[in-house]
Amino acid sequence: MTSTQTPESAAYVVIGAGMHGMSTAWHLAMALEKSGKGKGGDVVLIDKTGPGAGATGVACGCVRNFYMTGPLHTILRHSVDVWQSDPANLGFQQVGYVSVGEDNQTSDYEKIHKSQNDAGYPSNIYVGQEAKSYLKSIWPDFNTEKADVVLHEKPSGYAGTHLAVRGLHEKCLQWGVNCVFGTAVTGYDMTNGCITAVNTGKGSIKADCVVICAGAWVGKHWDWLGKPRTLNMRYPDGGITESADMWTYWRLLEGEVYLNEDATYRTPDDRDPPVLHVELMNTPVVTEDGKSFPDLHFYTYLRYAAERIGAPGVQGGTIPIKIGPDAQIDPYGHANDSYQADPWFADYYCATLSYLMDRFKGCRANFKDRRNGGIGAFTPDNVPVFDWVADNAYMIADSNHGYKMIGVGKLVAQHLTESQPVEALAPFALTRYEQGLTFGERNSNCPWV
Ligand SMILES: Cc1cc2nc3c(=O)[nH]c(=O)nc-3n(C[C@H](O)[C@H](O)[C@H](O)COP(=O)(O)OP(=O)(O)OC[C@H]3O[C@@H](n4cnc5c(N)ncnc54)[C@H](O)[C@@H]3O)c2cc1C
Repeated sequence: MTSTQTPESAAYVVIGAGMHGMSTAWHLAMALEKSGKGKGGDVVLIDKTGPGAGATGVACGCVRNFYMTGPLHTILRHSVDVWQSDPANLGFQQVGYVSVGEDNQTSDYEKIHKSQNDAGYPSNIYVGQEAKSYLKSIWPDFNTEKADVVLHEKPSGYAGTHLAVRGLHEKCLQWGVNCVFGTAVTGYDMTNGCITAVNTGKGSIKADCVVICAGAWVGKHWDWLGKPRTLNMRYPDGGITESADMWTYWRLLEGEVYLNEDATYRTPDDRDPPVLHVELMNTPVVTEDGKSFPDLHFYTYLRYAAERIGAPGVQGGTIPIKIGPDAQIDPYGHANDSYQADPWFADYYCATLSYLMDRFKGCRANFKDRRNGGIGAFTPDNVPVFDWVADNAYMIADSNHGYKMIGVGKLVAQHLTESQPVEALAPFALTRYEQGLTFGERNSNCPWV
């Protein structure tokens, strides 16, 4: 049911109706019903606005596994299982994902390819002339001059936000989750390391267990829990970074481009092409009329996006821009004047597209001129934190790249209802920073790789 009233108590209070809150509430409700340990109504899902009010509602929707952080490969395998459990209602298009790099990334691609396949996530790698030919087989007009290495992930794809948000919300309702929308959490009562009450604008909820999935608002919840704003990060090689900010805000740059009138974005065998990601670390971005971007790197991604823009076209973006440890989060997304894509973004993005494929020549005229903002809270090593933050409170903080990670809610629900450690979640514990297991090995200009 959906309500505006808060109950006095609940076995589980899940905060935030984004990707992680809705997936967790849905899977908790299913696990309780199926095991006979409880019912969907034991789960309260609370959001100050409603489903998809944060990053989940504005994401590009790319589902890929191109990470140099190996343990994420398993998280994505679980996630694709969930996307594939009901692709129609979650909007998942399993078109695959192709990543393209220059020679300097070949050994990274080899490592990723091995790790993905070891994790049960099939991908193929192509190097040198094979890489160029492979790209041409999907996009015959691809400029393969700098394409030295290609990774093709088969299980990946994309999921438009409209369907995914609606589908997740419906699943919560179908399993009887008590959805309380339009009510903000304002703080926590804590006793001896436990949250005894979740305080809201409409009264307090006594909770046995709390799951915090607050997206970009995570810093506020962190403060309410009395946690330190900085920490020391120890690395496997013995290195240490002292007093790193726990949360750093970045703003994302994304946009949409309609196709030229006579162009199509289909493969030669008339399929929706894989999501495409290209990072050329030694190649400048130059527009068709010669404008260059000396401070920026070549990093671009795109996927077919007719469902989002109402006509044939693509959606994508580039490397986000760091804001710092403080940001004005509300109003969020397209409503926030401070964090819209910069005026140069349209020129830059269209320059990457027209460099890559002939069909995008002249596409600057087709850039969809509209608001396109969104910020995220990144962790100290830009890798998610999934862990207990109080004796009875679990936090899902995905470092703003976890729309794709729909399976985390399932794993967390399993952990909470079975009271057993879940192996796939373990590498993302907060203790990694102190224990010298901070992540950080990445040969990329982008914090998400
Ligand atoms: C422009 C953009 C594009 C992106 N593209 C991709 C992509 O292609 N692929 C990908 O994997 N990831 C992408 N991401 C990242 C991804 O969208 C996020 O990592 C993910 O959606 C975060 O989900 P969440 O559930 O943690 O948070 P959110 O979706 O932000 O949800 C948090 C919810 O918590 C609620 N909330 C917060 N505080 C309170 C409170 N005090 N009381 C009650 N409710 C509260 C908010 O209202 C909000 O609805 C993108 C992000 C942005 C901004």
